[in-house]
Amino acid sequence: MYSVMSPKAEEFINDGEILETLKYAEENKHNEKLISEIIEKARLRKGLTHREAMVLLDCDIEEKNKEIYALAKQIKLDFYGNRIVMFAPLYLSNYCVNGCEYCPYHLKNKHIARKKLSQDDIRREVIALQDMGHKRLAIESGEDPVNNPIEYILESIKTIYSIKHKNGAIRRVNVNIAATTVENYRKLKEAGIGTYILFQETYNKKQYEKLHPTGPKADYAYHTEAMDRAMEGGIDDVGIGVLFGLNLYRYDFVGLLMHAEHLEAYKGCGPHTISVPRLRAADDINPDEFSNGISDDIFAKIVACIRVAVPYTGMIISTRESKETRERVLELGVSQISGGSRTSVGGYVEEESEEDNSAQFDVNDNRTLDEVIGWLIKMGYVPSFCTACYREGRTGDRFMSLLKSGQIQNCCHPNALMTLNEYLDDYASDTVRKAGKRMIEDELEKIPNEKVRETARKYIHSIDEGERDFRF
Ligand code: SAM
Repeated sequence: MYSVMSPKAEEFINDGEILETLKYAEENKHNEKLISEIIEKARLRKGLTHREAMVLLDCDIEEKNKEIYALAKQIKLDFYGNRIVMFAPLYLSNYCVNGCEYCPYHLKNKHIARKKLSQDDIRREVIALQDMGHKRLAIESGEDPVNNPIEYILESIKTIYSIKHKNGAIRRVNVNIAATTVENYRKLKEAGIGTYILFQETYNKKQYEKLHPTGPKADYAYHTEAMDRAMEGGIDDVGIGVLFGLNLYRYDFVGLLMHAEHLEAYKGCGPHTISVPRLRAADDINPDEFSNGISDDIFAKIVACIRVAVPYTGMIISTRESKETRERVLELGVSQISGGSRTSVGGYVEEESEEDNSAQFDVNDNRTLDEVIGWLIKMGYVPSFCTACYREGRTGDRFMSLLKSGQIQNCCHPNALMTLNEYLDDYASDTVRKAGKRMIEDELEKIPNEKVRETARKYIHSIDEGERDFRF
C-alpha cells in the first residue's frame, strides 16, 4: 500500500503507485485540458504531485512542451536568479566492498588502482583545491568498514576544515558516503557537514537488487530509508538523486518525486538538492551495455519537469555532462555545478597514468575551474562560492523559509557577488577577472534594498583591500 507518511521504503516508494502513475501519464499524454490545468497549477510555484509532474514529462503536445520549458526557465530565474553555486568533488578512498554493477569501484574489480588518502594526502589535495578557488567540497568514498570507517571520514572532514592556505578555506563540506546508521549521521552532523548526499541509483526494487547483488548496499530498504535516518540524526539538508541509465527513466522520475514528497510530509522538509547524474564510461564499465540510457532531449525535459515540480529544491549537475549539455540545462533549472573536477583519488595533486587509474568515471567537461567561471560569466551567470546559509544556521526548513520569503535577492545575491569577488582577486586569470569585475558592478545594482546594496559595495571594497569572508 502506498503511504507517503510510512517509514517503510516499499510503502513511501510504492511500486503499485508508480506503475499506476505511469499508466495515468501514458493515457493523458495528449490530454490538452489536463496538461493545461497542471501547467496553471505549476505557475503558482508551489510544486506538483508526482502524478502531475509525470503527465508533464510524458506530454507530447509541442505547444505545451514549449510552455513547460518556458515555465521552468521562469521559475529558475525567480527562485535562483542568475547565480550558479560552485563545488568540487574530493575522492577520499575507492576501497569498496559493494558489488554495484555500474561502478568500477565494485569489489570484484581487480584491475583498478585502489587508493586511500592519508591525512597528509588530504592536506595536499585541499591546498590544490583551494588554489583553484574552491570553497565548497563534496567528499566521496567507497563503502568499506575496514578501510573507510566513519572515524576516517570524520577525521578527514576535520582535516579539510582546518586547512587555511593563503586566502583559501573550505567553508562547506558536503558528504556523499554510503547509507549508514542514525548514530553515524549524528557524528557527521557534529563534524559540521553541509548536505548529506546519497543517490538512490534506482527506485525500482527488483532492478536495484539486480544491480547491487552483493555487499551492504544490496539492502534496498536500508538504502532507501537512509535519508530518514540522516534527518533523525539531525542532518536537515539532504541531497537525493538517481543514476539515469540504470533503469527506465520514467519509473525513476516518479520515484524521485515520491521520495521528495515523503521527506516533506514525514520529516517536515523536502530535499535540499536533487542530482541528475547519467551513467558514464569507467574503468571496467561500458554504458552501452546498459539498455536504459537517455537522450539529451529527455534529459533536458527531466530537468525542466523537476524544476516545475519542486521549485524549492536546488538541482546539481556534475562534470559527467559536457559543456553543451550543461549549458542547456543551466537555464532549465540547474543551480549548482562542479568545475575543474577530478574523480580519481589524489587526482588534484597528481595526474594519473592509465595503468594507475583510480577514477570513478570519465569526466566529460575537462575545463579548468577558471575556464568554467569565465564561461558562466560570459553567459550572464554569476558564479557563486557562497556557503553563508549553512554557516548562519539557515538549513532545512529555515533555508526554505528564506527562499519563500522573497529575500533571496537581498541575501544570496550580495553573498554571491562577494564570494565571486574573492575568487577574482585571489585566483582568476586576467581575462576572467576583468569580465567578473564588470559583472559585479552591474549586478550590485540589482540588489533591491538600498542599505544592503551599499553594505555589499563596502564589503567588496574591503575584499579588494585584503579582507575575506563577509556574508549576509
Ligand atoms: N559509495 C557511496 C554510495 O554507495 O552511495 C558513495 C557514492 S559514489 C562515490 C557517487 C555516485 O557516483 C554513486 O552514487 C553513483 O550514482 C555514481 N556512479 C557510480 N558509477 C558511475 C558511473 N559509471 N558513471 C556515472 N556515475 C557513477
